[in-house]
Amino acid sequence: MSRTVYLNGEYLPEDEAKVSVFDRGFVMADAVYEVTSVLGGKILEFEGHMARLARSMAELEMVCDLTRDDWLAIHREMVARNDLDEGLIYLQVTRGNAGDRDFHYPPEGTPPTIVLFTQAKPGLADDPKAKKGIKVISIPDLRWSRRDIKTVQLLYPSMAKMAAEKAGKDDAWFVEDGFVTEGSSNNVYIVKDGRIITRQLSTDILHGITRASLLKYAESAQMVIEERPFTIAEAQAADEAFYTSASAFVMPVVEVDGAAIGTGKVGPVATRLREIYLDESRKSAI
Ligand code: PMP
Repeated sequence: MSRTVYLNGEYLPEDEAKVSVFDRGFVMADAVYEVTSVLGGKILEFEGHMARLARSMAELEMVCDLTRDDWLAIHREMVARNDLDEGLIYLQVTRGNAGDRDFHYPPEGTPPTIVLFTQAKPGLADDPKAKKGIKVISIPDLRWSRRDIKTVQLLYPSMAKMAAEKAGKDDAWFVEDGFVTEGSSNNVYIVKDGRIITRQLSTDILHGITRASLLKYAESAQMVIEERPFTIAEAQAADEAFYTSASAFVMPVVEVDGAAIGTGKVGPVATRLREIYLDESRKSAI
C-alpha cells in the first residue's frame, strides 16, 4: 500500500513527494527529527516530542511557523490518511533548500522543509523481544558532543547497529571516558538492589521523552532512582538492565558484551516498568 506522506503543507502519495538535491538536510545533515508512537490510532507523548522538537530547532537557530495545534492537526491527519492503528510517525524539519551547496546557512526567510511519514507496526506494544530481552555490545561513543539535539546525523548510530548485527547481537551501547552514555537509539538503565540507575541529563545524551515519563512513573511507584553514569562492568554485575525509546517503550537487556545480566532472563523491574509505561502512555495518548 502506498503511504500518504506530508511535505511542506501537502499530503502526497509517497512516490510523488520530492525534496531538492540542494536541501540542507540532504547535503549537510542540517535537520532535526522526532519519532512518535501511535497505539490504537492515538498519539503517545505528543507534548513531550513537540517540546523537544522546538528545543532542538532553537538550539540550531532553525525557524518554523507551525504551532503546536498545527503539528497536532498534521499528526492526526497522517494517522487518519494512513489508517494507522499501531506504528510510528516520523517527522523531520530541515533548514530548507539553499539553492546550492554552501556551509553558511541560507538567507533568513528560507522556508524549512517539513516531512512526515508513517510506519505501520502491527503488534508494536506486544513485541516478543520484550519477553526475551535483547543482547548488546559496547562500542566507543564517537558522536559529536551535542547529543541533546535530535539531529539526523545518524551515521555513527547506524554503524553501531551494524557492528552489533555483525557480532550476532541486537544493539550497541556507547561508552565514553569509561562510562556508558546511552544506547545507539535509546536511553539505558541498570537495576541494582532495587535502585534504578541511569545517566543524568547533559549534552552527552538525548533527553529521551520516554525516559522523562518513565522516571516520573517510577517515582510515583516509590521506586528509587539514581541519576549517575555507570560502567559496563557495573552493568554486567547488575540485577537487570533495560532501555527506553519512543518506538520500543521499555525494553529489557539481558546481556552486555557476552556477560549475562542477573539471571540472564527478563527481570521483574523491567517487566513492571514496561507495563506501567504502556498503561500510562495509552491513558495520556491523544
Ligand atoms: N537516545 C538516542 C541516541 C536516541 O536516538 C533515542 C531515540 N530517539 C533516545 C535516546 C530515546 O529518546 P525517546 O525516548 O524520546 O525516543
